[in-house]
Amino acid sequence: MLYRFAPLHALGRAADSARRARFGDQAAVATYLIDRNINYTNVCTTACRFCAFYRAPGHEEGWVRDTDEILRRCGEAQALGATQIMLQGGHHPDFGVEYYENVFSAIKADFPDLVLHSLGASEVEHMSKISGVTIEEAITRIKAAGLDSFAGAGAEILVERPRTAIAPLKESGERWLEVMEIAHGLGVESTATFMMGTGETNAERIEHLRMIRDVQDRTGGFRSFIPWTYQPENNHLKGRTQASLVEYLRMVAVARLFFDNITHLQGSWLTVGKEVGQLTLHMGADDLGSVMLEENVVSSAGAKHRSNRAELIHLIRTAGRVPAQRNTAYEILTVHDDPAEDPVDDGVVSHYSSWADERLALVEVNGA
Ligand code: SF4
Repeated sequence: MLYRFAPLHALGRAADSARRARFGDQAAVATYLIDRNINYTNVCTTACRFCAFYRAPGHEEGWVRDTDEILRRCGEAQALGATQIMLQGGHHPDFGVEYYENVFSAIKADFPDLVLHSLGASEVEHMSKISGVTIEEAITRIKAAGLDSFAGAGAEILVERPRTAIAPLKESGERWLEVMEIAHGLGVESTATFMMGTGETNAERIEHLRMIRDVQDRTGGFRSFIPWTYQPENNHLKGRTQASLVEYLRMVAVARLFFDNITHLQGSWLTVGKEVGQLTLHMGADDLGSVMLEENVVSSAGAKHRSNRAELIHLIRTAGRVPAQRNTAYEILTVHDDPAEDPVDDGVVSHYSSWADERLALVEVNGA
């Protein structure tokens, strides 16, 4: 009822009030992060209908990025001030637990200070099948190799009917939550996401929130909730109507009110644009997410927004909040409380490098 009928301004005001009550004397602050999303392969057996990033095994445009290239990108990210690496990729038919152990331990050996906030329940489900091990063993091993926390990707929409329609080969929403619950029990925290606007009903949107909230009541392992909007280009879900920006803002506000048990709520400037991202700070959000030195997955489906650190700081400040850089665990690293001390344009820009970059050392997997 709130989601559908509450006046937008009243809804935002209630959500903002809940945010201020939760953060107390820190309520003036809104945060951002510097990270890089590094894709290790676009080869995937799961063929989600909304995905513009993957290529089927054997496809001539399939690639695997070698470990040296991943390390080079980590080094670049660290030099630009990134604190976090988000490794994301397809469900490659050959990549079991061993692959991830090797990549994570190589990164941690060279860059012990970079936080590996990577993969998610879908990748764990996939690698455990490839290696023939339990979910518990897979998580324990990749954690030992260097994984710090799971990203919340792969949640899409957890409710069975719309999930089956857009990702028929992906694990069920219940299974996604089960894997996350196991991870939380093993000390690996995560975020939770929601890709809205692929044809789900309003009731299914709220059901998605309920499913996450019930798990959070048991584990407390979801650090934040990150709703974003489906991007409609270059994929197999033709003709779907995206969630409108007003629906998105209403979702942000309802999420703040509904998730009494999840501390942080992130606005997605990448998918809804910088101005709407800024508005989320008045609808209950306390965080604008990452500068994203690199992002290819959502961008390949049409997300065209770009930004940089100076601009995110400006957006937060002109929304009436004090900008602060955080780390993966939402600890404040730097408070930008004096505009005169703001970092100048220093190359900390989104999409610093793209997958089309000719410098990439790609290993063709087709027949290789
Ligand atoms: S969303 Fe992930 S699992 Fe689905 S097709 Fe794309 S890369 Fe594969």
